[in-house]
Amino acid sequence: MEHRIIDDLGAMQQKTLAQKRFGKRIGVVPTMGALHEGHLSIVRRAKAECDFVVVTIFVNPVQFAPTEDFDKYPRTLEHDLELLKPLNVDLIFTPTEKNMYPAGYDTFVEAGSLTKRLEGECRPSHFRGVTTVVLKLLNITSADAAFFGQKDYQQYCVVRKMAADFNLPVDIFACPIIRESDGLALSSRNRYLSSEERTQALALSQGLKRSQCMLEAGVADVKKIRREIQAIIETSPLAEIEYIAIADPLTLEELTVIPNNSHNIASQRHFWRYILPENQLPRAVVLLAVRFGKTRLIDNCLLY
Ligand code: AMP
Repeated sequence: MEHRIIDDLGAMQQKTLAQKRFGKRIGVVPTMGALHEGHLSIVRRAKAECDFVVVTIFVNPVQFAPTEDFDKYPRTLEHDLELLKPLNVDLIFTPTEKNMYPAGYDTFVEAGSLTKRLEGECRPSHFRGVTTVVLKLLNITSADAAFFGQKDYQQYCVVRKMAADFNLPVDIFACPIIRESDGLALSSRNRYLSSEERTQALALSQGLKRSQCMLEAGVADVKKIRREIQAIIETSPLAEIEYIAIADPLTLEELTVIPNNSHNIASQRHFWRYILPENQLPRAVVLLAVRFGKTRLIDNCLLY
């Protein structure tokens, strides 16, 4: 295991380029550590799709605003390595901050309109940090494919758009959200929740479920669905809603009515190739950001 952990950027690039020369398809799973079953499910998918899998563990300072939880973000490397052991990944990349952003580092990726709304509105510099680190990680690991979670749905859309706009020869996969048995989406930040907050946080997945039921019952009016989700979340007195958005799954523009069929199916087919369980196109995505005390949770679901 030890020999598979690399913190040196040059060594990582040499090793993965060598594998590429042998014709191996290289998959990378970017993470910030504090691993849980959500991350592990992505690693399994990467192993199924690729010949050589690199997991990166790096708490990227550039995607945190000065007021956010960078310093207190959980760092649990030993436990992460234990969790990864049975998955038998090929390399684990644990770069230092200094090597990723040495003195004088001065180049950033500025993605467009997808980064301006929702998370981008609440966290204005966040996606600039995400796209910058992801592009660096793709280059350092010589990736042919990169694997993300649907949990950070907007992040997936932004990265996918960057890959398309920059003509990166990399497939961007999204993997399903893994939840606790009671519905709470797994997140490294769940450990910040008090037990009362943890109980009340179930309102997020309950609200999402309700939106699915409403659409199935024929309610396509976004205002009605949003109002219902809001009412469910507001039954939790500790919840402070940042946004509830019902949006086009591709552009993330907010909808007023959920369309019957997803528009522009032909051009979306490539986009959705990897995300859909049943080759069905979603009609909308519901995205939530809600604070419980100091902890900010996000969740989402696709509506079919
Ligand atoms: P993070 O370590 O929080 O940056 O997450 C690394 C990757 O794991 C991201 O692509 C996340 O979307 C994904 N991820 C986080 N939580 C989950 C989850 N509950 N289910 C699936 N993927 C997840």
